[in-house]
Amino acid sequence: MVADVETLLRGPKAYGLARKALEAMEAHKVWPTALNYELWVHYVAAKDSPLGAEITQIIASGEAFTDIVGEALAAEFLPKAKLNGEILDAGDALSKELDSVSRAIESARESSEAYGEQLATASQSLEVEDTAAFKTIVSTLTSATQRVLGENKTLETQLADTTAEVGRLKEHLELVRRDAMTDGLTNLANRKAFDEALERACEAAESRGQPLTLAVIDIDHFKTFNDTWGHQTGDQVIRYVASVIGRVGAAPRTAARYGGEEFALVFPDESTRSALTTMEEIREEISSRILKRRSTNEDLGAVTVSVGLAERQPGEGVTSLVERADAALYASKHAGRNRTSAADPVSAAAAAA
Ligand code: GH3
Ligand code: MG
Ligand code: MG
Repeated sequence: MVADVETLLRGPKAYGLARKALEAMEAHKVWPTALNYELWVHYVAAKDSPLGAEITQIIASGEAFTDIVGEALAAEFLPKAKLNGEILDAGDALSKELDSVSRAIESARESSEAYGEQLATASQSLEVEDTAAFKTIVSTLTSATQRVLGENKTLETQLADTTAEVGRLKEHLELVRRDAMTDGLTNLANRKAFDEALERACEAAESRGQPLTLAVIDIDHFKTFNDTWGHQTGDQVIRYVASVIGRVGAAPRTAARYGGEEFALVFPDESTRSALTTMEEIREEISSRILKRRSTNEDLGAVTVSVGLAERQPGEGVTSLVERADAALYASKHAGRNRTSAADPVSAAAAAA
């Protein structure tokens, strides 16, 4: 979607689209900030895209398009993670380069120090033989070496400064990396982080012959909730559900926001049975709380979630595992929602609420 819009914005329809975006923003009383413009140009260019559909829905609900709404949409739909990924790759390359420069300087310092020592030793042995001409040559060489050593000292100081700067850069890079892997709304792992974690966990499970279970979680009837209470209150509910899921998601598990109102939990070394116990606790906890609208304290009722579980089979790839967990989630929805289902072929452990 994003790539297509990028192409459109460099094609013959570009100015027409830009005008349409601004007109739509004005019509819906949206401030023409850079971020809002980016969102709305995507909207006019691709109304049937996920972002387009979200904005259509916000317009239909009559909800104000505030900065908070815009920022949440941008965190969700604009390709920040990709950009960050590219920055990270460049940063990693730079950091490796600096490491190898540091090693080269260090080894140059060591060899010239050794050279200096050798000359000093040679000079001492010549003293005994009292060969004046040689002694002069060697002492000239020795003082030349002293100079080199002095220069190396300066280099060393510079290197220490550079190393400290590299350390600071690395710390900053780590923060950017964490940001690129984190979902802006919920602080859970984002889709990119989840994909990587699941891939790694599957490889580890395969090589160690251990089980691994994947849970996918989807909020029930969330569209109706949004239509009734508005997108911002919907976001608060997403945060609430994420906070409950996050509590059981500590390492080695991974808790992620998989998509809009969908979440996932990776359970390394756990079978369906053990993941099922955890997911049933989570599901019950989520549905047990009567939510309140923060701004007005109105009762929003309880939200429920449906869960699909799949335990990885030996040799099974990520795609198949995700498909089976999705199928189990669909089974939970089909059977009436607010329940957990486990995928075949471990369906003996399937449970309903
Ligand atoms: P089901 O029980 O079958 O899951 O019904 P549903 O209405 O939850 O399912 P569907 O997938 O059709 O709708 C998901 C809705 O979630 C659509 C969209 O309005 C809402 N949504 C997706 N992402 C966000 C978000 O980031 N914030 C808010 N507030 N709503 C979102
Ligand atoms: Mg959904
Ligand atoms: Mg849903």
